[in-house]
Amino acid sequence: MLNNLIFVLNCGSSSIKFSILNPQNKTKYLSGLVECLFLKNTYIKWKCLETTYKKHIGSYISHKEALNFIFDQVLLKEKDVYKNIVGIGHRVVHGGNKINQSALIDDTIISFIEEAAPFAPLHNPLNLTGIKIAIEKFPALSKKNVAVFDTSFYHNMPKTSFLYAIPYIFYQKYHIRRYGAHGISHDYVAHETSVILKKSFTSLNIITCHLGNGCSISAIRNGVCVDTSMGLTPLEGLVMGTRSGDIDPSIIFFMYQKLGISIDKINTILNKESGLLGISKKSSDFRYLEKNYSTDKSVKLSIDIFCHRLSKYIASYICLMDNRLDAVVFTGGIGENVSLIRQITLSKLYLMGLKIDIKKNFLIKNGKSGLINTSNSIPVLVIPTDEELLIAKKTMKIISSI
Ligand code: ADP
Repeated sequence: MLNNLIFVLNCGSSSIKFSILNPQNKTKYLSGLVECLFLKNTYIKWKCLETTYKKHIGSYISHKEALNFIFDQVLLKEKDVYKNIVGIGHRVVHGGNKINQSALIDDTIISFIEEAAPFAPLHNPLNLTGIKIAIEKFPALSKKNVAVFDTSFYHNMPKTSFLYAIPYIFYQKYHIRRYGAHGISHDYVAHETSVILKKSFTSLNIITCHLGNGCSISAIRNGVCVDTSMGLTPLEGLVMGTRSGDIDPSIIFFMYQKLGISIDKINTILNKESGLLGISKKSSDFRYLEKNYSTDKSVKLSIDIFCHRLSKYIASYICLMDNRLDAVVFTGGIGENVSLIRQITLSKLYLMGLKIDIKKNFLIKNGKSGLINTSNSIPVLVIPTDEELLIAKKTMKIISSI
């Protein structure tokens, strides 16, 4: 039914995802993506009611220009869908220390998102650009914009997980702690797991791995996230496309003091030149890396380090499970599509009761979900994430209550 639709906007650092969907019947009427922002060929793809479009929209296009294109050239032209939008849901990466759940956007919420920007400098400012343009372009819905935060999912983590072992004053006074990221995706696949395994969410003990350009892993005990790999910012934890994940902080002192590299440059190295790209020296894109695994030594090394770190995290999270692990779940572009990663990682976890079925594993990709374990193993699931659907559901819940 073309009514009660939610427009979902996800402004990322190099791409913008958008969709219009009905959260009740889960139908997506429109979905689109702008890619290659600030690069030579910025393009947009969208699909509306069975018709697919792809257009080059210019060179070195900014988020603001791309958003204007989405609103003026895509949404306004799809009037049947557009006129049935009742609310707008925004993905916001970091809620800082003041917001712990989805919220109707007003000036106070905007100021909280601004305050949290130093903790997600690549994301929060862009999320705000999306919010401001949506308010301007949809004046009739200006009071029906909802922020759904990735950090909310981690709000109930215990202090033992979220505190760093640095002087307590840095937490008390400056709110330095582990906040987590990708919470919307972990939350979505955790709820899907409870449906698939037919177990109540509040008794679910699982480990969820979101492996995309950014990668993170969460331990969920009795339906509550009790630990996660991303920290104060999305730089900590697993090896990622271009981010280092965990390193000894002394490397930063060495780069600065002994090598004379500026702090800004170190920031760029750790966020944009490290991870799979840094080790392989070729690419951060798994489509390329997977193809060259057996022929290129640097590529092989980058993937082996990626899986080594991931398997160590899974093993360490098993000890948080209260003596029962219901499932390990893979999601995100890599988690959903790259059977090689799942195979290498899980083969290291045999002793922990995780046994992969090679055939099943090989067949699960391209949006399929399913179990990839043998019959004598703890369940291992692949579940395609759908952050847009969860954002739409949370948005509808909030605007229905005002
Ligand atoms: P983001 O974190 O930006 O949402 P995604 O979840 O889309 O990222 O994941 C991007 C990663 O997934 C990239 O490394 C990409 O190469 C990889 N990926 C996506 N689809 C495939 C595929 N079909 N085969 C191999 N790798 C894929």
